[in-house]
Amino acid sequence: MAASNLLAGRVAIITGGGSGIGRATCQLFAKNGASVAVVDRTQSSLDETIASLPSDIDNQSHESFVADVSDGGAVRDLVAGVADAFRKPATILVNSAGITRDQLMLKMKEEDFDEVIKVNLKGTFLMCQAVSQAMVKSKVTGGSFINISSVVATMGNIGQANYSASKAGVIGMTKTMAQELSRFEIRCNSVLPGFITTPMTDKVPEKVIKMMLPMIPLGTLGEPNDIAETCLFLASNKSKYITGASINVTGGL
Ligand code: NAD
Repeated sequence: MAASNLLAGRVAIITGGGSGIGRATCQLFAKNGASVAVVDRTQSSLDETIASLPSDIDNQSHESFVADVSDGGAVRDLVAGVADAFRKPATILVNSAGITRDQLMLKMKEEDFDEVIKVNLKGTFLMCQAVSQAMVKSKVTGGSFINISSVVATMGNIGQANYSASKAGVIGMTKTMAQELSRFEIRCNSVLPGFITTPMTDKVPEKVIKMMLPMIPLGTLGEPNDIAETCLFLASNKSKYITGASINVTGGL
């Protein structure tokens, strides 16, 4: 999609914005006029993203925030910091922060199960809760929350009992949030990427990718921007009648 003013005047918080899908989403949202609050765990990854963002539409500006999304106190400070920095609360939230700790379930360590649930599921909950509380408190309506789940939430994947459970949880939780937050005019949807080329999938062995490819009707892995475009649609008013949905972006996998 060419650059437009689709998100002009809006503040968007994007977690995991220092890499992969989160970074591509920051770039596309900035191109479309949003002011972006980029969130990740390290300042260096944030600096790289911020340096790549255009800021020539409608007085937009961008800020970076180091925060761990699985820490409730850090998340509350982050959301308050965003409202201070932009002088209004964010109305768009993309939860792209996520981790894997793959292992066959017979050998999976309890701490690797807990850590994946804590970041992917609880982190998404904490972010949605803090942003919606800020919006409700300041009586701002017209929000869109986009939670990045995964196609493995619905199909399972060997070695990912923890990850697939966390991402299935994101889908159910997003549907509940959609029902609870619609009266505040906040829409909540999840996006289910298939295999997308990012630092996360760089860790997947070449032989596993070769096995996956024949199962993808469109014949290739996806690009981070394929997910970013779906997030842009869900963030903008073009999707104003869509809430509680979970959208596959998988090349047909
Ligand atoms: P990535 O590893 O490139 O980016 C994830 C980012 O999240 C990293 O910058 C990381 O530092 C950040 N992060 C991790 N834990 C965090 C925490 N506790 N607090 C704040 N930031 C944290 O991965 P990606 O491929 O861009 O993945 C983005 C999202 O898409 C993830 O939720 C992932 O599970 C999901 N996803 C990816 C694929 C894929 O094929 N790449 C497929 C399905 C779903």
